[in-house]
Amino acid sequence: MTEYFLLIIIIFVLAAAIIFLVYVRHQRVLNDTRKMYELQIEEIKKRQEQQLYDRTFDLKLLAKSLREKKDELEKINVIVKSINSEMNFVGFLNTILDQSKVIKGLERARVLVYDKDNDVFKYKVAKGWDMEQLKSIEMSPAEVEDLFIRDSEEIYQDIFLVKKLVQHSDQLPSPRSMVVLRVKVKEIVEGYLFFDNMQSDEAFDEHDKQLLHNLKEHIISAFLKTKILEELKKLNEAKNEFLGVVAHDLRNPLGNIANFAKLLLMDIEMDSLDLTNAKKMLDRINQSSKNLVEIVGGLLNLSAIESGKITLNLKKEKVDSILSECEEVHKNAAQNKNIQLIIEKNKSLPEIAVDKLRIMEVFDNLISNGIKYSHSGGRVRIYCEANAKEVITHVEDTGQGLTEEDLQSIFSKFTRLSSKPTAGESSTGLGLSIVKKIVEIHGGRVWVQSTKNVGSTFSFSIPIENNSAQAV
Ligand code: ADP
Repeated sequence: MTEYFLLIIIIFVLAAAIIFLVYVRHQRVLNDTRKMYELQIEEIKKRQEQQLYDRTFDLKLLAKSLREKKDELEKINVIVKSINSEMNFVGFLNTILDQSKVIKGLERARVLVYDKDNDVFKYKVAKGWDMEQLKSIEMSPAEVEDLFIRDSEEIYQDIFLVKKLVQHSDQLPSPRSMVVLRVKVKEIVEGYLFFDNMQSDEAFDEHDKQLLHNLKEHIISAFLKTKILEELKKLNEAKNEFLGVVAHDLRNPLGNIANFAKLLLMDIEMDSLDLTNAKKMLDRINQSSKNLVEIVGGLLNLSAIESGKITLNLKKEKVDSILSECEEVHKNAAQNKNIQLIIEKNKSLPEIAVDKLRIMEVFDNLISNGIKYSHSGGRVRIYCEANAKEVITHVEDTGQGLTEEDLQSIFSKFTRLSSKPTAGESSTGLGLSIVKKIVEIHGGRVWVQSTKNVGSTFSFSIPIENNSAQAV
């Protein structure tokens, strides 16, 4: 009995020991697991703190760059507003150079502008440069590209970082850094804006280049707008001047007609009409009316050609037969003034595609001028020659000739030059501008060589292969 009792106690104790051991082991495992979780939680916390720190840092950077962007946009806005408020071209260029001081690397600036009439670039405005020195510089489009663009790096479209820094002449110092903005519209370069730094090799940073890039389109549109406005202003002034000259030229014959008509009326009313005197007055009225018709006709003719309303009726013509017709028209006028009219025919000339009536107008104007501006005893000679491309006609006279100054404006409308009609012929000042237009719409050129008091030779060319219209 006691043995059984002891065995039960031993079993009980053993069981209690096992339970205790299991409990201790379980507790240890629990502790380990808790520690592991605590470590993991700690790690996650640290990671999240790091992420939060990184995010905050990124956000601060973003806020800084947004602030910079905002500042830049405000700067651009101020510049755009001020350049857009300019209506005058030079005013705009000066404003843009003034405003360019926001480009940190900039010390000096200058603008080259294309002069279409002379096919050259000239400096229009400059800051920090001696404009007097720049004024005399003229460069062809190819020269500008060679000097500043060819070896440069195009950092954005039409914005160049000049690598090979050269200057136009020894008198001008060479910048150490230069950025060029090329103002190009539909493949035509209208100008260049130069931003120079004389001290440092790397004066312009990314920010400066980006700023220029952002401003480029605004600068180009304001450049064009002000240039067009300036051209319109000039055209308007030319139109007003032209109207003034036309009005002046119309006033004389109109005044004559009004005065002589009034005198005639007075004679009739007072019953004192003298037929010889009346005929003289009617002659003057007739002459003045003819003059008016000539001026108005010339103006209508020019206006039709200039506005492109003329369609040429091109036909292959022999120059010799046109010359024969001219001889018929002018021989009497030449004889009356005792002027020798020599028309040299040349059978070897190729046919040319011309609107005969229009080309006759050219011959008529040049031959009648030769006669009109020559003194009695003079000579007017017409001769033609041909090369591979064109037939050239020369109308040579031994008349009054023209001065250097006359030659500057000889083909303009209503010019008043040193030579005057020698026998009271009428003069409208429109003939040569009509000649020039007609020759040009045929694809040709017109020019003159003249020596005062010796004579003049007016020449024009007509292309042999006329491509401007189909000849039959
Ligand atoms: P118009 O003869 O009717 O005045 P043009 O346009 O034909 O008009 O000529 C313009 C001017 O050019 C003339 O007024 C004259 O002074 C000058 N001129 C034209 N042809 C000659 C010429 N052959 N010799 C000298 N002067 C000329």
